[in-house]
Amino acid sequence: MELILLGPPGAGKGTQSKFLETRYGVAQISTGDMLRAEVKAGSPIGLEAKSIMDAGGLVSDELIIRMIGERISRPDCAKGFILDGFPRTVPQAEALDKLLHETAVDLDAVIELKVDETVLVERISGRFTCAKCGTGYHDSFKQPKQAGVCDICGGTEFVRRPDDKAETVHARLEAYNAQTAPILPYYKAKGRLYSVDGMAEMDDVQAQIEAVLRQIGVAAG
Ligand code: AMP
Repeated sequence: MELILLGPPGAGKGTQSKFLETRYGVAQISTGDMLRAEVKAGSPIGLEAKSIMDAGGLVSDELIIRMIGERISRPDCAKGFILDGFPRTVPQAEALDKLLHETAVDLDAVIELKVDETVLVERISGRFTCAKCGTGYHDSFKQPKQAGVCDICGGTEFVRRPDDKAETVHARLEAYNAQTAPILPYYKAKGRLYSVDGMAEMDDVQAQIEAVLRQIGVAAG
């Protein structure tokens, strides 16, 4: 299965793609997670990307395309992959087409998670994760059962993304509207675009995505 989850920051791409990774046995690839790992490692890519990410802008197409080309050629992608946060511009979408064409792989679907902009800021600015296992929480919607202790691993340290601050979220939404939304007609014209209601409960969004996958004949792994 080769799938793209598309949608603005805070739409639930990360949550849904992690679920799909387990359910369908394919690799989940988040370019945001890959970049954050580079920043943490202090690598040249991380140094180049950090200030752009902190400001809510987009890292250069050239860097991202190189990173993705290397990532999807790894063995864990042999059964397929779910892309979360890539492509984010039309040139990235075109470069992905070229990469897939070279390996004779066909994209199954691009699933758009539709969410009203007004709720995105609230969703993003309240989120935090366990520093040890990465489980996600939210100030308003999902606090750990015992305050300050991760439900899953018992960790007591939590982190917030520096670009989840309200002022940066606006820049990220602008980048989405100006640079990423034009990908939607690109995939629509190819007959690959499906939209689901990302405002629904998490389980319901999951069910909608699975319905799309069934509709196009993709079976769980
Ligand atoms: P995300 O975790 O997907 O929200 O990405 C966090 C940040 O990483 C974005 O705001 C961008 O600065 C950068 N980034 C992630 N993926 C891409 C991409 N495909 N193209 C350009 N920049 C990206």
